[in-house]
Amino acid sequence: QSPRPRPAEAGARRPSVGVLIDNVLVGGGAPIVVQSMTNTDTEDPASTAKQIAELARAGSELVRITVNTPAAAAAVPRIRERLDMMGVSVPIIGDFHYNGHQLLEGEPACAEALAKYRINPGNVGFGKKKDTQFASIIEMAIRYGKPVRIGANWGSLDQSMVATLMDENALRSDPWDASHVVREALIRSALDSAARAEDLGLARDRIILSCKVSGVQELIAVYRDLALRADYALHLGLTEAGMGSKGITASSAALGVLLQEGLGDTIRISLTPEPGQSRTGEVIVAQELLQTMGLRSFTPLVTACPGCGRTTSEFFQVLAKTVQSHVREQMPVWRVKYDGVENLTLAVMGCVVNGPGESKHANIGISLPGNGEAPSAPVFIDGQKAMTLRGDNIASEFVSILDNYVST
Ligand code: SF4
Repeated sequence: QSPRPRPAEAGARRPSVGVLIDNVLVGGGAPIVVQSMTNTDTEDPASTAKQIAELARAGSELVRITVNTPAAAAAVPRIRERLDMMGVSVPIIGDFHYNGHQLLEGEPACAEALAKYRINPGNVGFGKKKDTQFASIIEMAIRYGKPVRIGANWGSLDQSMVATLMDENALRSDPWDASHVVREALIRSALDSAARAEDLGLARDRIILSCKVSGVQELIAVYRDLALRADYALHLGLTEAGMGSKGITASSAALGVLLQEGLGDTIRISLTPEPGQSRTGEVIVAQELLQTMGLRSFTPLVTACPGCGRTTSEFFQVLAKTVQSHVREQMPVWRVKYDGVENLTLAVMGCVVNGPGESKHANIGISLPGNGEAPSAPVFIDGQKAMTLRGDNIASEFVSILDNYVST
């Protein structure tokens, strides 16, 4: 079998305390974990379990669900049962706001079925009730042996923390600007809550932190600062990233910088799906971000040139899409049967200018004929020209060559 290249060596990772979520380790030197979140009504166990299974099959290693009402809390153990019956073992995380203490206390089976609780220090409670309600959730986490993500978000900042910082800032000889005050409020909110959780008895290896904002530069600044101030495992994500290319670009820009600096132990790409579109798109983007950066491998990467005036027919684009789709469809089986298949590289190129050269760098590459070139498509395997395809069946023949290579 030919040697399959490993991703390029990525930079050193920030050391963090590892947190076990069921059987998935986050931080502590573990591979960066991909997670996602459902958008179904959690009170509906059938549709929620179905979407969790879809996300898990797409590659989400953790899935978060909203738990916002007593009926949603009651549905959680039924969702877990359905997943177990489907053979889907992905850990599910409960996302709590405002009433998490009541829901966890009122539904012990929910507290047990969840693999982790996410709480927001900005809305866990207000005034005198805040500490009591926060303590109640932490005590439930200790009782059921569950980790907790303390997730601050600038859309729901702890207003008492902001007020305190504004007062402090007014006394500074070099006052911060408004965005710095917000960043500091987010970080202190997360760190103070983590310290309080530890005071209450929650172990350090049960705590993950996040401080999410929706601006790229602000997110980078927040996490750089947060990472210097504690060694908790970090969940990275640009909140409210948006739809389509805007959301993908903004998330990749922000997370790419942080990941390159070694920050982040688990990531979520928060994309707003088009109406009717599958939720799994955000999982694929997260995987592709990690893989193109050489941080993890999930599926063979398909290199394709953009095409230009030398490729006036659509055949080249169709072949690139066919190969990409085929690889994604086959991966659930290939991953089980063929060790290391996720590290394969493929190339689909549009003409002789860069086609043969790029194809030779891939495990398998094809260089289609551009305008005016002889109607033949050389195929390269592990850097050597192996055969030439011609005629109307180039796509199916190339896919067969790929299948054969993977299986031998
Ligand atoms: Fe155009 Fe050929 Fe370059 Fe593809 S490889 S972009 S078809 S010149």
